[in-house]
Amino acid sequence: MRRLVVIGGGISGLAAARAAADRAAEVPGGLDVVVLERDADVGGKVRTAREDGWLVEEGPTGFLDNEPALDRLIAAAGLERRPADEAAAHRYLVRGGTMREIAAHPVRFVRSGILGPLGLLRIALEPVIPGRDHDTGDESVWQFARRRLGRQAADRLIAPMVLGVFAGDAKRLSLPASFPKMAQMESEHGSLVRALIARRRAAKSSGQTVGGPAGPAGWLTSFDGGLAALPRALARTPGLRVETGVTAQAVRPRAGGGFVVEREPGPALEADAVVLAGEPWAMAPLVQDADRELARLLGGIDCPPVTVVALGWRREQAPGVPRGFGVLIPRGEGYRILGCLWDSFIFPGRAPEGHVLVRAMLGGAVDREVGSWDEGRAIEQTRADLARLLGVTAEPVFARVARWPRAIPQYEIGHRERVAAIERRAAAMPGLFVAGNALDGIAFGKAAARGVAMGEAAARFVIEGRVV
Ligand SMILES: Cc1cc2nc3c(=O)[nH]c(=O)nc-3n(C[C@H](O)[C@H](O)[C@H](O)COP(=O)(O)OP(=O)(O)OC[C@H]3O[C@@H](n4cnc5c(N)ncnc54)[C@H](O)[C@@H]3O)c2cc1C
Repeated sequence: MRRLVVIGGGISGLAAARAAADRAAEVPGGLDVVVLERDADVGGKVRTAREDGWLVEEGPTGFLDNEPALDRLIAAAGLERRPADEAAAHRYLVRGGTMREIAAHPVRFVRSGILGPLGLLRIALEPVIPGRDHDTGDESVWQFARRRLGRQAADRLIAPMVLGVFAGDAKRLSLPASFPKMAQMESEHGSLVRALIARRRAAKSSGQTVGGPAGPAGWLTSFDGGLAALPRALARTPGLRVETGVTAQAVRPRAGGGFVVEREPGPALEADAVVLAGEPWAMAPLVQDADRELARLLGGIDCPPVTVVALGWRREQAPGVPRGFGVLIPRGEGYRILGCLWDSFIFPGRAPEGHVLVRAMLGGAVDREVGSWDEGRAIEQTRADLARLLGVTAEPVFARVARWPRAIPQYEIGHRERVAAIERRAAAMPGLFVAGNALDGIAFGKAAARGVAMGEAAARFVIEGRVV
């Protein structure tokens, strides 16, 4: 029997394992698919906690329903999706100390006061600003936004959006690596506005709707039991062997082909193919002996800390929490929280009847010190910020903190070249495949899609004896 070892039991690794297991019947003699997961449970960053009627996502909130590979995984796992409530369409931003709704309607957006007259005028000029091609060269997200939309929009709208997605610094992240669709819109249409108009027209003529709660690109979605339902269901796939509490220690290519995977506890495993699906900093040491340059490239991807603080109140104690998605807070407004989500409005039922659940994010690339805070300090800061922001001063009836010392990979300037180099080095070790969210998509859905692609590639490699 041939064997595939997948290292990491987050969504990337489980998607890879499931995709490979689906092709096991094509492997003469069969395919043993083994997932090694360091933690006691599968899921990685996806951790759903249930406590006294509260349902708290300690990592991702949900996924956008725009990824066909993820749709297929969900269908195969037999799970029912739970779309976010319509209330999630109301999203807010802090500007000049005041929380303002980011209205989709142009007149309401103008009136929101998020941008001043000069900032609005500059945005109106976007269609006539010459476009550039993103195939060569690199540019930070902030530079791109300033060039196309003006400085006000870059600072007040785009930088906080980058905090919301990457917990990242817009001045350090690469636009084409972090937001490839925006780069593509400019490359193809010369303007974001013209690209949006073209997209709307195309959607209208094909009878589709564009976007929904929490983003123009898709509808925020989860499951009734929270996001962890998917990794758990995938781990139960017949034919998969998932070993939790087992850490891969090294991946060594064998002279005649294939690999030896050292693990702790347990004897080393021989493998025909290996998928690396753990965090880049965790995968780097595994390949250090086999390829120091690959280890350096993986280990060089910055993953700053993020702390998630969930607080709950009785509704009458927190009347200032609006029925909506949440709020983003640009740096310079005097808050430590990067923003917060109003979970019990996004997915009703996540707080006991008559209560509200709020989740705040702290840290990221712009405030690394938060990584050293204990839970008490994180709660205290969040309470102080929410008191000022939403006027909620009452003692919370529920509190839960999740600390991620190395949370979200940052696609910094030069990331595309780094990824190309990682792909080249991995290709030089036939049978080694790199999955995970550190290369070409940090979102849950993108990680799943890359996982599926790598799992299928690994299965094809085992079937054909070469990379296909
Ligand atoms: C706070 C937070 C909020 C987020 N919010 C969203 C969101 O709302 N929407 C969204 O789309 N995305 C969000 N994301 C991103 C999303 O969570 C990730 O893209 C996705 O979960 C990554 O999955 P993964 O399997 O690639 O990695 P991980 O989930 O990090 O899994 C890697 C796994 O590998 C294991 N591992 C590592 N080393 C070893 C080893 N040597 N041996 C064995 N096992 C090992 C780890 O224990 C871990 O379980 C968020 C992330 C964070 C941290």
